[in-house]
Amino acid sequence: MQETKQRTLCEPFKIKMVEPIRVTTKAYREEALKKAGYNPFLLSSKDVFIDLLTDSGTGAMSDKQWGGIMTGDESYAGALSWEHLEDVVKKLSGMPYVLPTHQGRAAERILYGILGGKDKIFLSNTHFDTTRANIEFTGATAFDLMPDEANDPELFLPFKGNIDLEKTEQHILKYGKENIAAVVLTVTNNSSGGQPVSMENAKALRALCDRHHILLVIDGCRVAENSYFIKHREKGYEDKSYYAIAKEMLSLGDAFVMSAKKDGMVNIGGLLTLKNEALATKCKNLLIISEGFTTYGGLAGRDMEALAIGLTEVFDPDYLHYRIRSTAYLGEHLKEKGIPVVWPIGGHAVYIDAKQLYPNIPINQYPGQALVCDLYVQGGIRSVEIGSVMFGKYDASGALIPAKNELVRLAIPRRVYTQSHIDYALDVFDDILNLRNQTKGYKITYEPEFLRHFTARLEKIA
Ligand SMILES: *Cc1c(COP(=O)(O)O)cnc(C)c1O
Repeated sequence: MQETKQRTLCEPFKIKMVEPIRVTTKAYREEALKKAGYNPFLLSSKDVFIDLLTDSGTGAMSDKQWGGIMTGDESYAGALSWEHLEDVVKKLSGMPYVLPTHQGRAAERILYGILGGKDKIFLSNTHFDTTRANIEFTGATAFDLMPDEANDPELFLPFKGNIDLEKTEQHILKYGKENIAAVVLTVTNNSSGGQPVSMENAKALRALCDRHHILLVIDGCRVAENSYFIKHREKGYEDKSYYAIAKEMLSLGDAFVMSAKKDGMVNIGGLLTLKNEALATKCKNLLIISEGFTTYGGLAGRDMEALAIGLTEVFDPDYLHYRIRSTAYLGEHLKEKGIPVVWPIGGHAVYIDAKQLYPNIPINQYPGQALVCDLYVQGGIRSVEIGSVMFGKYDASGALIPAKNELVRLAIPRRVYTQSHIDYALDVFDDILNLRNQTKGYKITYEPEFLRHFTARLEKIA
């Protein structure tokens, strides 16, 4: 039951098993960060107190899911756990063909490997990194088509993850509908801050795809979180269940890809579902070659059992309320303190505008990395830079071509931390504010050719 009166937002679960975490000293963390080349990706998790690096595969399973781990059927073919998962996913997606994969990008590789190819075009609100990588790997081109106003980090829009329908139609006309391999609608829109997509937008996109006979793929790894926003922000959905809203959203797609590490509430797993039999047959052939037989994909029976249960639990109203409100709790309190956050707060993470927080640090000294490092040193909090360390390039003279924004993401693992952990994180931000004028920038001393943020090493500028 959701309280209407304003009371402390309690976690709708109690703790049955614990995993110790430890607060280290500031001196210890300074040393650990130095050893890690000022790149928190290179820290050992034992040295991290609160890990907000990602919400992917970092959630806690329920007692029922752990029970499912014990009863999982490990038969190679036709396992009962597969039948359970297939049944749950068919009902949710309304699609007759369900393929299990080891994680989301495997589903993407299979589907886009078949749909893609040289001269093919994909259109999306925003392609997630692995989506774009799998599409571009086939030689195809991917366009992100967000409305211009969605780029304003401070503007409140109820559905800031929507695709721009006009731009989509323009691209279809410009490139020719026969060259558009698919439109991919990402809900919620991960790369734009976990912002939701409205049902109205999805329905209009379906109509547009119908007019031009184009395949619509829903990347719905956070479709439950998206349903929460629809119920509370979109007219006509107030009285529908989160499950019914998710089902309606997925019914609009021709295919559904899912990283189960998000709203699947498991630590590993992925799904691909399809309406079209011929396409499903092609995908199944690739699945068998690269992932495994059609009744387990890359998963153990126990993984499928836990996922079947997770996909049911994620629609629990108390869980979803806690999930979305607890993320907003962190973001709203940071905003109150004067920390510049991307607004409104999305479903799975809070994004901080480091360029605004540290106007004294030039962009080529990576203000986002400075915040990531300070959060770790001051409080043992691990976050991730989403700015020029991640997306920066160099021009011919070797000067940095910066990313569009210098953001730091605090992603919230599902059912892992309690409000006191989040309150602690808020306390650490008081220190961040006190130190903001002394904080120094960084320079990169080592970087690989691709995806440099994972393994780059940096040095503090004296
Ligand atoms: C995480 C994610 C993926 C990729 O899934 P993995 O399980 O990490 O391979 C694809 N799309 C979106 C929107 C995601 O958030």
